Amino acid sequence: MLKLKNIRKGFPILARTINGHPLVYFDNASTAQKPYPVIAAMSDFYASRNANIHRGIHTLSYEATEAYEAVRERVQRFINAKSRDEIVFTSGTTESLNTVAFGMKYLLKAGQEILLTEAEHHSNIVPWQIVAAERKMKLKYIPIKSDGRLDLHAYHKLLNKRARVVAITHASNVTGAITPLQKIIPAAHKMGSLVVVDAAQSVAHIPIDVRRLDCDFLAFSGHKAYGPTGVGVLYGKRDLLESLRPFKYGGHMIKRVTKDQTTLANPPEKFEGGTAPLAEVIGLGAALEWLEQTGLKNIITHESSLSRHTLVRLRAIPGLRLHGPDRASARLPIISFTLDGVPAHDIASLLDAQGIAVRSGHHCAQILHEAFGQPATTRASLAVYNTRQEVDQLAKALLYIQNKFHGD
Ligand SMILES: *Cc1c(COP(=O)(O)O)cnc(C)c1O
Repeated sequence: MLKLKNIRKGFPILARTINGHPLVYFDNASTAQKPYPVIAAMSDFYASRNANIHRGIHTLSYEATEAYEAVRERVQRFINAKSRDEIVFTSGTTESLNTVAFGMKYLLKAGQEILLTEAEHHSNIVPWQIVAAERKMKLKYIPIKSDGRLDLHAYHKLLNKRARVVAITHASNVTGAITPLQKIIPAAHKMGSLVVVDAAQSVAHIPIDVRRLDCDFLAFSGHKAYGPTGVGVLYGKRDLLESLRPFKYGGHMIKRVTKDQTTLANPPEKFEGGTAPLAEVIGLGAALEWLEQTGLKNIITHESSLSRHTLVRLRAIPGLRLHGPDRASARLPIISFTLDGVPAHDIASLLDAQGIAVRSGHHCAQILHEAFGQPATTRASLAVYNTRQEVDQLAKALLYIQNKFHGD
């Protein structure tokens, strides 16, 4: 069981007031708040351990290297990768996905196909569009059903031997719908296609086991998992990482440089050119440790019950339309909606006046909004520190907004 009061005390920002009201933070799918251990680990790194890593002979550099590499091993354990060499530090999900797309570009051929879904975040669409255009490949989109779930039947029809990549989100950042990867991945492999998983939303809410999933690549960011911005992870199967070309060249990623040529380092160093975001990696390690100590199981129990409660409360509001699966168990605690006759941005700004932070717009998923026939939605995305009382406040505020606009 989670001790919610203690959890909340661990996040200093939750003590803030916004426009005269205690902060209700429902914008976790954009970025989550950070607990003390993360803030402390980063400030402690700068205050007492800061030095550049690798090849340093002096003690501080040695300590910084140890701390940095210990986080790689923590990430490896966290997602159950086979080896530390399969964990690449990047600046975030976007860079991780770009590293895969542009790294495998040279292995792709005209006429081959890339499958995406209509629910992808722009960062899992745009790199593939660029690569597909360069290599004269075909892009296909697996359709999303009206309840936000993937159309599996259509997937099987779209998939054939020309597929080289299926790049797919583990969970939608708009509807929260969880992708049935255990069905998607084996089918793709049967056709000889690789599978790239965008775990930006799922990593702090669902246990991830890359060996059980058997995905080929997986990407996530630190900042949506209670860690810092500026750091992310790319997991890749060892032999596949070896076959990719890096797109960043410079220091730290080489074995030997002569006037004429360079021998590259092995993965993961091959992809970590330049000085790494050291304090951020340390902060990510603290965030994963915090998640492990809090217990993903406890977090899931709390968040599912909160999701169910939110769905019930929001369904009771006249004129409110929810997007995404009906069942709370089929989704992350991400709830997007539209309110009849009230523009999404007005909802967000009226909620902000009451201290409630939500997001409005297309949430970097314009294709999905087009499929829903809505240019914009309002999104309340929940996290471990949110409470039922906060959800009740949101529901009450939405009812008030609804009445205000329709004047009864
Ligand atoms: C946030 C997000 C991204 C991009 O993450 P960055 O941290 O901005 O690089 C990609 N995919 C999904 C599903 C996201 O929610």
